[in-house]
Parts: sequence; C-alpha cells; structure tokens
Amino acid sequence: MSAAASIHELEETTTLKPETVEDESGTVSEREALDKLTTLSPAATSGPLIAIDLDDVLCQTNVAVAQWHNDTYGTEMKLSDFLYYYYWKNPYWGTPQETGAKVRDFYGTDRLYTTKPVPGAREGIQALKQLGFRLIIVTARYEDTADQSWKWVDHHFPGCFSSIICTGQFTDAHKTGHEVVTKLTKAQVCDDLKAVLLIDDSAENAYSCVTAKKPIATLLFGDYEWNKRMCTHADAKHDMSFEARSKLEGGREYWKDETVPVPEGAPLWRVRDWSETVRWIKARKEEGRFD
Ligand SMILES: [Mg+2]
Repeated sequence: MSAAASIHELEETTTLKPETVEDESGTVSEREALDKLTTLSPAATSGPLIAIDLDDVLCQTNVAVAQWHNDTYGTEMKLSDFLYYYYWKNPYWGTPQETGAKVRDFYGTDRLYTTKPVPGAREGIQALKQLGFRLIIVTARYEDTADQSWKWVDHHFPGCFSSIICTGQFTDAHKTGHEVVTKLTKAQVCDDLKAVLLIDDSAENAYSCVTAKKPIATLLFGDYEWNKRMCTHADAKHDMSFEARSKLEGGREYWKDETVPVPEGAPLWRVRDWSETVRWIKARKEEGRFD
C-alpha cells in the first residue's frame, strides 16, 4: 500500500530490509514456515493461484487517505494528486518525516476499515473464482492492522479468501487467526506459493516481481497516476518532497517527464480496472496459458 510503503521506506533508511538480514538458510526456513502456515482459497479446488494486492486493488485506500487528509487539514486532495507511490512526493504531504507522522495518525483512525471496495472488485473476484482460480491476498500492510483488515475482507468478499499474507515484516513467519506474517517480499511469496499471476497497483512491486530471479507475471492494476512513475529508497529525503522539488523546478510539471515504460519482454501488463483484468485473464486462460 502506498500508506504502508510511505512508512516502510522511512524505516528502511535506518534499518536493514528484512530480506537483507536473512542468509540463505534463514530464507529457506522462512519459506518452509510460510508453506505450513498458508491456507489457499478455495481449498476444495486445485486451480492455478493468483496473488492479489489489497490496497487500491481490492480496497479504495487512497480515496480514504485523501478524504481523511482533507477533513483533517482542510485540503482538497484528489486521487489524481497521488502522482507517486510514496506520499511525500505528492502535493499536500510535506517532508518524509511529516508524512510519516500523518500516516501514523491516519492508521489511528478507522478510515481504512470503513472505506469501500474498488469498483468492480467484488464482481471481478467472483468471476476469477468461477474461472477456477485459487485466490490469495498478499499485502504490505502492517501486522497490527491485519485483524481489522481481515474483518474488512471477510465483510466485503465473504468466502472468497482464506487468509491474508502480510509481506516484508520484521518478525519470523507466524499466523494469527486468518493472518500470515512473513519477512519475505511479494516476489518471494508469489514464487514460493507458485502463483501464476500477481495483481498489484504499484509499479515498484510490479517491476521487482517481473525482474526477480524467477519472474512473476504481473498485472499492473488501475488507471492511477502513481503507477505511471517509480520511486526508490533514495527518494526518502527532504528535497524529494513535492513542495521542495516544485520550488527547485520553478513550478514546472516535472513529474510528467518521469513516467516509466513497461520493460520490453517482461511479463508485465497494464490493466485499467477490474473488467479489463477479468477479460485479460479469461482470454489467457482460453489460450491455455495457465495450464
Ligand atoms: Mg496496493
């Protein structure tokens, strides 16, 4: 999620990333633990597995975040103001530190759990189930939000998922209720679970999955500004905030020059919404691509 990622990035500037503190045997045991803990849905079928991101693929997270920001700070933030995945690179947010404090305040509210599903998501998930796919949610949300996240998922998508996997965490793999927590990245989880496809709205996640040692086919979901350009760890500094950069660029719309193309030959495709997602997957299935 953009909100979780906005904090993750700040923490990772002072803390080693989870996968970098693991040696090979540590990663292997983490994978073994994940295998034991993960229950795939629906258990009764043996169809190919699709991993699905939660924020802004199933849940209208950035709509909720913008609404909260407007109510709290009297701004007029719109979804189209989310130009980049990391919030501090977008209008209204301030420095990375100010953004981190805001995101923590946002998490202190129940806004994330009262927001609606992305339009068409419910019908899309049902359609994928009817096509015989097993589905699992793979998210970067924090472990301490997992319980309420599960309640939201179970309310809006009853019977569609058995568990949520929270990736990139700082504790060893474990399971509480329906939530599985792991240090592994999304790419590692998808590889481990042999997912045939990841659906994610983040260009950063999509690029890291399609360029992994074992590439994961990925649908880059949503007609969103923030997945037209990329951010890196190096962006977590004051002069990368929207206000600082705008000043530096003399008001020029610099972000328009920072769009990224889909790398040639990579198993990465863009889909605008859920109906296009279902059409794309159905067509590939009919071609026998998931057999
Ligand atoms: Mg997301």
